[in-house]
Amino acid sequence: MRDDNRRIGVMGGTFDPIHNGHLAVAEGARRQFGLDSVLFVPTGKAPHKNNSAISPGALRYEMAALSVSGNLYFDVSKIEIERAGASYTVDTLTELKRLYGKKTKIFFIAGADAMTEMFTWKSPERIFDLCSIIAAGRPEVDGEALNRQLTLARERYGAKIYTLKTPPLAISSSDIRNRVQVERPVKYLLPETVELYIKKHGLYRGDRYDMEEAERWVSSRLSDKRWRHTMGVAEDSVRLAEIYGVNRRKAYITAVFHDCAKELPAAEKLRRCDERGIRLDSVMRSQPDLAHGLLSAEIAKTEFNIEDPEILNAIRFHTTGCEQMSLLDKILLTADCTEPNRINIAGIDAIREAALIDLDKATALCLRMKIAYTELKKQAVHPFSVKALRETENKT
Ligand code: ATP
Ligand code: MG
Repeated sequence: MRDDNRRIGVMGGTFDPIHNGHLAVAEGARRQFGLDSVLFVPTGKAPHKNNSAISPGALRYEMAALSVSGNLYFDVSKIEIERAGASYTVDTLTELKRLYGKKTKIFFIAGADAMTEMFTWKSPERIFDLCSIIAAGRPEVDGEALNRQLTLARERYGAKIYTLKTPPLAISSSDIRNRVQVERPVKYLLPETVELYIKKHGLYRGDRYDMEEAERWVSSRLSDKRWRHTMGVAEDSVRLAEIYGVNRRKAYITAVFHDCAKELPAAEKLRRCDERGIRLDSVMRSQPDLAHGLLSAEIAKTEFNIEDPEILNAIRFHTTGCEQMSLLDKILLTADCTEPNRINIAGIDAIREAALIDLDKATALCLRMKIAYTELKKQAVHPFSVKALRETENKT
């Protein structure tokens, strides 16, 4: 493999799955920087991510291999997948340098999001020493912020960084996974061979969340009473999901996580929201319990890798409701109110009945109950609840 003065592009990533954004960036880099080839390196155990939610390395490798077949300039490496233990970019680059020989120049290709994280990786100074960097923009990353990072890397580490001229494509693996999960099209976002592979192997269909692990994880954080309530909400959510044509696994996992931050003390809720950059309005700040939906969603996202925006939204707003509620939003808000452990509550049977035939009506009744209870306690009603009530009442 040794060949003097070669220029090799290396693109590391989870590639779960590989998509046209990756391929377009690799091709752009190859042309702009006259690279002899580009090597895609799917990660093994990623030190930054919760590995249980990532597809097995063998599958991610195969999808990458399908994408590059037929392109003489592209190749895929198993180097990280086959490594036991955590995978660090610095180790991969060291090994590639050894394989290719000292005279080969390595260009590490990274998207703007990865670029802004690079300082937190193991041994950034050695990474910047082993290779030059080609930084590609991503639509969701602010160009100014990226430039500041690049300047810092140059100043602090003497990093050799070039920017890619190829315009960024708004494609991401997480978006593709979310689309597959809710059966929305992914055509033209990734190679057709990969699309077929995903179908054939049933990837990303919602089974990617390990339900048992999720249950163990949440139940260990809640009192027995709160966990019984959670399971009741899950039961009702699944029943409603079936009636209204929503993915039942999705409804279940939404319910499992909906209250995971509920039992934190008020001050702790506020502290964690501040720490995680969750902005609270004045109503939430004065009634920290209302913020447990926002915080539960954030915990589900960061600690359990739940990425589905519909699931996260339902968890976020189950306490207050929100504008333009989705079916899943309404299901969780209603099930939270009707679940079998709730007894001796005036009007609850009427809501249970309504839920089976008219979800908007049931949601409106739940919101009314929430609002009445808040007024009884002489507390401020959240404006989201008022808006949600108006909208759902208008629909019935
Ligand atoms: P996820 O949404 O799961 O994070 P991803 O689309 O970001 O997936 P990764 O496998 O995480 O894909 O990314 C591997 C590398 O490719 C990273 O450096 C990332 O920044 C870059 N990358 C991914 N998609 C794009 C894109 N559309 N444009 C530019 N760079 C991209
Ligand atoms: Mg990414």
